[in-house]
Amino acid sequence: MTLHEMMVDEIRDLYHAEKQLTKALPKLAKAATNDDLREAFEMHLEETQEQITRLEEVFEALGEKVKAKPCAGMAGIIEEGNDTMKEDADGAVMDAALIAAAQRAEHYEIGAYGTCIEWARLMGHTEVVALLEQTLEEEKATDKKLTMLAESEINQAALAEGGHEDGEEEEEETGRRVAKASGARKQTSRRQASKGGTRGRAKAADRRR
Ligand code: FE
Ligand code: FE
Repeated sequence: MTLHEMMVDEIRDLYHAEKQLTKALPKLAKAATNDDLREAFEMHLEETQEQITRLEEVFEALGEKVKAKPCAGMAGIIEEGNDTMKEDADGAVMDAALIAAAQRAEHYEIGAYGTCIEWARLMGHTEVVALLEQTLEEEKATDKKLTMLAESEINQAALAEGGHEDGEEEEEETGRRVAKASGARKQTSRRQASKGGTRGRAKAADRRR
């Protein structure tokens, strides 16, 4: 297999990844409580549809057949996102988790496009480089926007949702179970969990048993 063939394979993988995202992004938008976040997902859905067209232009420029190759990586990321959406979480907490899921997808794309761009550049496919770079910029901008939304308001709102009190009850319960089940070292993790006072840590302590 040549590097050219490998590149075409990677682009087919991306083609499938983007197609999967056009089905996942509407679900993320629907699950979002924050208006700006929902709009960000909707806007990226439109971009993603253009990215698919752009990839078809890439195949054409390379004289290759337009074809998708099953992308298990993105399928896994989307599956995790679907699991997240099934969680019982308050609005802002869910929003924070949706951002976490979406950023995994963006980072996957950023990695894959970066590689394809470099290989295309190496092999002198100028038009392909230009097309893929447009998409890469959109992925990076989406990632940045999600970070901005998380850091400017959503994470704070999630923290304020009052998971605290709720979490403490759970921790005590977890702590009891931990104490019963094991020795000193495990009790340390319980204490750490109580100190942190979040449901996530309590669950982590629980898992450590
Ligand atoms: Fe994309
Ligand atoms: Fe994307």
